[in-house]
Amino acid sequence: MGSNILYIEDNPDNMMLVKRALESRGYTLLEAFTGISGVESAKMAEVDLILLDINLPDIDGYEVARRLRASGKQNLAYVPIIAVTANALKGDAEKALAAGCDVYMSKPINIRELWARVEAFVPAPDPKEF
Ligand code: MN
Repeated sequence: MGSNILYIEDNPDNMMLVKRALESRGYTLLEAFTGISGVESAKMAEVDLILLDINLPDIDGYEVARRLRASGKQNLAYVPIIAVTANALKGDAEKALAAGCDVYMSKPINIRELWARVEAFVPAPDPKEF
């Protein structure tokens, strides 16, 4: 329990990479490939942490974060959100934080950094239990 991670990401390679990395630590990954479907998934499922791409095909990650924080679902007001993006432009981190994200990670995704960022919010389940 307490290990459901939602990744909102339109790039299938990144999705696969993160899925493998997190499932190897015992987390369960829920996938959403658009911003809108990500917001819906967050409302429907019990999600303990959200990884959020910023460049998405419909609404961008900043808007996703704002909608999650503004949704009526109580846990979405404070569920940890880690922004993950290739945008290295100055100010992107500040924009992500202003939109409601807790942390900002740059692409390309570094697996060790990913594990550390995620574990800072959600302890890794014991993989032996799976
Ligand atoms: Mn993207």
